[in-house]
Amino acid sequence: MRSLNPQPRKFIPFAPPWIGKEEIREVVEILRSDWITTGPKTKRFEEDFAKFIGSPKAAALNSGTSALHTALVALGVGKGHGVITTPMTFCSGVSVIEWVEAEPILADIDPRTLNMDPEKIETILKKSKHNRRRKMKVILPVHFAGHPCEMDSISTLAKRYRLQMIEDAAHALPAKYKGRLIGSLGNLTAFSFYATKNMTTGEGGMLTGSSRLLEPARKLIFHGINRDAWKRYSKEGSWYYEVVAPGFKYNMMDLQAAIGIHQLRRLPGFHQRRGEIAARYNEAFYQCEELEIPAALPEVEHAWHLYVLRLNLDRIKISRNQFIEELKARSIGASVHFIPIHIHPYYRKKYGYKPEDFPVAYRQYQRAISLPLYPRMTNQDAGRVIEAVKDILKRFRR
Ligand SMILES: *Cc1c(COP(=O)(O)O)cnc(C)c1O
Repeated sequence: MRSLNPQPRKFIPFAPPWIGKEEIREVVEILRSDWITTGPKTKRFEEDFAKFIGSPKAAALNSGTSALHTALVALGVGKGHGVITTPMTFCSGVSVIEWVEAEPILADIDPRTLNMDPEKIETILKKSKHNRRRKMKVILPVHFAGHPCEMDSISTLAKRYRLQMIEDAAHALPAKYKGRLIGSLGNLTAFSFYATKNMTTGEGGMLTGSSRLLEPARKLIFHGINRDAWKRYSKEGSWYYEVVAPGFKYNMMDLQAAIGIHQLRRLPGFHQRRGEIAARYNEAFYQCEELEIPAALPEVEHAWHLYVLRLNLDRIKISRNQFIEELKARSIGASVHFIPIHIHPYYRKKYGYKPEDFPVAYRQYQRAISLPLYPRMTNQDAGRVIEAVKDILKRFRR
């Protein structure tokens, strides 16, 4: 006899991590050793990462947020400085600007890629040329969802107005702009290994850049202490160290690096699988008039950290929030990237932002849904997501 209540279908999560046997074995090995925090594994992970990215150097940290903060301090950003960034980002990209007492200046986004629009940056720079109270110091582009920003235009502006650049590449691993990996373009670039990112160490981050930029940043990561301070407890080490800068406590543990070393090896496979799932979604959705699929401009290679589908709200009877509820009812996890910075109560109050101040970001926010996307996802899982989206459209199209 058929059951009246069919089994609820297995929940498809939004972005679970994928930790393999090698990671687990190596973490256990370190737990059993005499050294669990920053040490030889962290050094090895930095070397492997720099080599993978094609950057002269890399420095590991305990989060992507720490990487961004350290980069700002290393470039001397502080009181009286402006940092241009996007409203379409995670709050940490803006809070670090406040930590150094500089002012975040938001530039609205390009509706195609949801990345900062170079024309909006230029407008800001032109307007602020004669501002004596606040000097523009840094442009902080975020490669949204893993789609690189228009780096040529942004670099040209940075040169013309004598600004430095810090790239937020939390989503962009691995991503290419005009054939070059993000993180290798010479600017200080911050990566995140948070649990949902394209590779993870649980929590963690990495800074890449030229030696000239990276070495001053590296000094700040562990209390501003010179040389390999961790070696002071080893046989070849010495008890002596010197504090040479006012630093932070942002170091990565060997426990985390042990995970990172193996995740990095698996990253090309992860990336390929992400691309395959994104291609399946694109193929299924590109002809639906109710939907807009994510753009991938010809000069980039997308990291496919997120698959952000956009609803054509005038063609369906429900809101984005209701759409997500409908997905949930079909056992599918989804998310929204991002609630724009200027919508959050804290920033709204502090800077007096109104939703219409960044109309593109606000409007795109209202129609965006991030679908499940992770390398362990099977074709069957992806098929279920596609089926659910199409079923919702069928029920609620105008
Ligand atoms: C995840 C993320 C960060 C912060 O990284 P953490 O490692 O969580 O500190 C910064 N910017 C963006 C765009 C992110 O998605």
